[in-house]
Formats: sequence, structure tokens, C-alpha cells
Amino acid sequence: MSKKSALITGITGQDGSYLAELLLSRGYEVHGMVRRVALEAPEHRLQRLTPVLPRVTLHPGSLESHAAIFSLIDKLKPTECYHLAAQSFVSYSFEDAFSTFDTNINGTLHLLSAIKDRSPQTKFYFAATSEMFGKATETPQTESTPFHPRSPYGISKVTGFNVVRNFRESYGIFACSGILFNHESPRRGYEYVTRKITSSVARIKAGREKTLTLGNLAPRRDWGFAREYVEAMELMLQQEEPDDYVIATGETHSVQEFVEMAFARAGLDWRDHVVIDEKFYRPAETFALQGDSSKAREKLGWTPNVRFKELVAMMVDSDIAALAEGRSL
Ligand code: NDP
Repeated sequence: MSKKSALITGITGQDGSYLAELLLSRGYEVHGMVRRVALEAPEHRLQRLTPVLPRVTLHPGSLESHAAIFSLIDKLKPTECYHLAAQSFVSYSFEDAFSTFDTNINGTLHLLSAIKDRSPQTKFYFAATSEMFGKATETPQTESTPFHPRSPYGISKVTGFNVVRNFRESYGIFACSGILFNHESPRRGYEYVTRKITSSVARIKAGREKTLTLGNLAPRRDWGFAREYVEAMELMLQQEEPDDYVIATGETHSVQEFVEMAFARAGLDWRDHVVIDEKFYRPAETFALQGDSSKAREKLGWTPNVRFKELVAMMVDSDIAALAEGRSL
């Protein structure tokens, strides 16, 4: 059998970097689409890819450019395409809904229409999200729970999800959506609350800062480990039929629990350092997001192993070690 090839959009991100490692370990030829700025400032933008950089091929392209996407799909005709690139920051999506819609909706449409026209045998993965459930009508959420997104980000992903389903049903494209609940790691972006907390804990521990300002501590999330979640993406594209799957741990914890545990891991008391500022509250919050991934467990044989406490400890320890080694956070 000839070597499988994969194109990953968003390869520079948390999930893209773990997925590139996984696919390389499985013998794939791995390609990544990256924004030109990433190629111009590789030491900063390609940091997460450092261990695999010599083994992946990067191509310049942005989700806003149909021409770039079309010619890339035409040139590579990859066996699989993992579409992870997105404006993925929920809070920012309230500030600029227009560009969030443009990037997340049109980008998905550009990719799928290029696949339909130039490489219809390519299997396609779409990074959907628990934020699509938003004001959820039932708990836990499954593949059949109605969507009620509460942010421009969530709306853009619901539309992307519908585009994916439409290409599957109308044109027979092998297209799947993974409805992933929050997943974190030492590679999480600094703008996300979990990494904001762990990097700040490390700086406070090192005596470089005294306080951490946060928004609402009440929301509960279903948090898993990103390295395990990318395994589910690959499994979805190896099935006989394309389908959509919820990927989650099934366990929820509040932001406050994350804060308490992260500070305690560093031997600190969060009450001495955390300041609440309502400026950081979202205009519309989603509260208890909890996933039921029974279908993925049954059909894909996927199960998460890293639990909440281990995840928090891993992130705090990694940030403390980074500072100790002189790396900046
Ligand atoms: P990151 O924010 O870490 O990565 C986002 C990636 O998208 C980066 O590689 C970024 O490139 C790229 N990107 C953003 N805008 C563009 C653009 N206009 N053109 C080309 N590339 C672009 O996200 P994650 O790795 O955490 O998430 C991966 C996907 O999964 C996202 O779609 C996200 O919405 C979704 N998701 C994530 C969850 C999570 O908990 N992590 C939960 C559910 C879904 P650059 O480096 O140049 O900025």
C-alpha cells in the first residue's frame, strides 16, 4: 500500500502539533498549511513543532484565500485532511464576529469545495466543539443534543458543522466532525484560561508576579488532555463510514477548582493571589458543558486516561520547569 499523506491546517497550534507527531509515528507523510507570518518568524510561531519540524512539509496559505487552498489541495491530493485551523478564542470572537465568521466558516467551505472539485477521495476531519451546545438543553451532551451556541465562535462552528454534513450528504465526501470538549496541555495557548492560570502560577512561584486577574470562576468544563484527543481525530477517518462523534471525559470541574488545584500544586494558596474582574466575564456564558462520548468509546474504541488532577499538575509543572530553564512564558 502506498504511504498515506495528511494535510493539517492549524498545524502550528496545540492540536496540530500533537496530531503531526501522531501521524508521523504512524508512517504518514505530513503536510501543514501555515500562515506566511509563521514562516517569517519560525522561532516564535513554529515553537510547538520544533521536535518534528525536519519531518513535516509546510506550505504557506491562509483560510481566507480560496486560491491558496485550492492549489494546495490540487497539488497534494492528500489521503486525509485535518482541518484544525480556526479563530479559536471564544472571548475574542465577541470582539470581532466578522473575522471569526470569515475565517471559520469560509475557510471550511474553501477546503471542502477544493476537495470536492480536485480530490474527492480525500477524507476530511472538521474540528467542531462543545461550544456549539452553549446553553445546552440536556446534560450530558451527545451527538443528538440540539445546538444553542452562545458566542460568535460557537455559531461559526455550528455553521462549519452543517457545511461538513452537507458535503457528506450531497457530494459523498468522507467528512467527519469531532465535537471535542475542552482539551488542554502544556502547549495550550496563553490566552486560554487554563494556561493563563498555570503560567501565572509559575511566575508567582518564581516571585515575578503577585496577582492573577480572572473573570467568572463558576463555569464548569469537561477538560481532557489534548494528546489523547488527537488520537480520536485519526480514528474517525479510519472508519468504514463518515460520522460525527462527541469526544469528552464525561467529568466536569469548575474554573475555581482548576485555580485551587494549580496554586496548590505549586505550594501556594490561591486566595492570596487571585483577583476577580468582571471585565473578563463573557457577554453570554455557557455553564455546565459535559460530554457523553459513549459512541466514540464503542465505535472508535477511544477512551481518555489522563484525569483532571494529573492534567493540572502536568501543566503547572511544565510552566515552572520552563521558567527554571530560562524560557519565557
Ligand atoms: P490553537 O488556537 O492552538 O490553533 C489554531 C491554529 O489555527 C493555529 O495553527 C493558527 O495559526 C491557525 N489559524 C488561525 N487562523 C488562521 C487563518 N486565518 N489561516 C490559517 N491558519 C489559521 O487551537 P487548538 O489547537 O487548541 O484547536 C484546534 C481546533 O480545534 C480549532 O479549530 C479549535 O476551534 C478546535 N477546538 C479546540 C478545542 C480545545 O479545547 N483546544 C475544543 C474544541 C474544538 P497561527 O499559529 O498562525 O496563529
